[in-house]
Amino acid sequence: QNDRPTLRFVTCGSVDDGKSTLVGRLLYDSKTLLDDQLDALASESRTAGTTGGDLDFALLVDGLQAEREQGITIDVAYRFFATKLRRFIVADTPGHAQYTRNMATGASNADLAVVLVDARKGVITQTRRHSHILSLLGIRHVVLAVNKMDLIGFDGDRFAAITAEYLTLAGQLGISQVQCIPVVAPDGDNIVAASARMPWYTGPTVTAYLESVDVEGDVSQRPFRLPVQWVNRPHADFRGFCGRIASGTIRAGDAVAVQPSGRQTRVARILTPGGERDRATAGESITLTLADEVDVSRGDVLSAGSAPQISDQLAAHLVWFDDEAMAAGRRYVLKCGTASTGAVISTLKHRIAIDTMAEESAATLDANEIGHVHLSLDRPLVFEAYRDDRDMGSFILIDPISHRTAAAGMIDISLCRATNIH
Ligand code: GDP
Repeated sequence: QNDRPTLRFVTCGSVDDGKSTLVGRLLYDSKTLLDDQLDALASESRTAGTTGGDLDFALLVDGLQAEREQGITIDVAYRFFATKLRRFIVADTPGHAQYTRNMATGASNADLAVVLVDARKGVITQTRRHSHILSLLGIRHVVLAVNKMDLIGFDGDRFAAITAEYLTLAGQLGISQVQCIPVVAPDGDNIVAASARMPWYTGPTVTAYLESVDVEGDVSQRPFRLPVQWVNRPHADFRGFCGRIASGTIRAGDAVAVQPSGRQTRVARILTPGGERDRATAGESITLTLADEVDVSRGDVLSAGSAPQISDQLAAHLVWFDDEAMAAGRRYVLKCGTASTGAVISTLKHRIAIDTMAEESAATLDANEIGHVHLSLDRPLVFEAYRDDRDMGSFILIDPISHRTAAAGMIDISLCRATNIH
């Protein structure tokens, strides 16, 4: 059953909207999966792409999990369940308004968000905040679960009004696909089975929608990128470059370039845990061997097609995590994919008021605040804009003294194209 595709989603809502009840219901109603399969899925998702002992920082969230032992409390619970059609990983985050960092962590790896509202309250400030953060994190698919329909007498007109208000908000935020579903979480109405109490609703149930929604995006259609996680050199005759394909497809014999050096060569062999292959695609963990003896190390990117972005000057959105406020001019360690370099936040351009998304001037960022910054790196980084590639466009900043994860970042664009990198 391991060929079923996995959908990652995050739940968000205010305290008491019914998130735990809804997730509990989804788990309860899909109790088909055995515990050992769940364990396998859990460990698989934690170690995706990792062939060496190190954590794969391309999975931003894993990096954050590792850092959590180092002082920052990130409250995200990951749960696993499956139906006949799909496997699911749900990141469940607490609803406390102040914990933007929890939500950002949970959403950083998600394909879709289930946003809960209480039918009695409708779209509230917290719904707007969460939706703003989702849009910043590049989430384009939302299920709006209008919960506690029993407490408003299953009123279809009220549901329609909440739906209309949310669709306006989603449109402003660029969240392109929204499915609104009226539910009663404890009773399971419209969660797995259609609700007899709301015959006026003819759309899909939550489970049916999650099973069928297409979130693949075009990451497999984008140019090939393999951030090198680890160089495997068991003996002098073999040199393999291991990692998880961030985007695109590669075939044996294809021309590839080593970035940032730009050195050209060809793929000799594609090795996977399941044996040698002719081709591999985004999301798969592979080992490549190359036709020529070229210099490749951890943190480099093997690319095909158009060149990736390369720069030592970045513009990015930051979600500040650390209780110690952001300090412009201070040195941090930036980890992006498998690469790591020293970095300085050269300018804080503005802070974003999360309730309204308005830009406001600020001298610093406190924990859970979001800002737009310019960064100056010690050496050129190979990356993509976050909107094109969430793996290669996101990074974390580590405080070199406390070793805490100070912030998570999403790269907008390079400020200048680096030249003469060698
Ligand atoms: P969370 O804080 O968002 O995780 O909310 P919970 O799942 O803990 O639910 C909060 C309270 O609301 C609990 O007492 C639930 O039983 C109740 N609740 C959740 N969903 C519904 C619903 O659809 N109808 C009614 N009447 N109560 C609900």
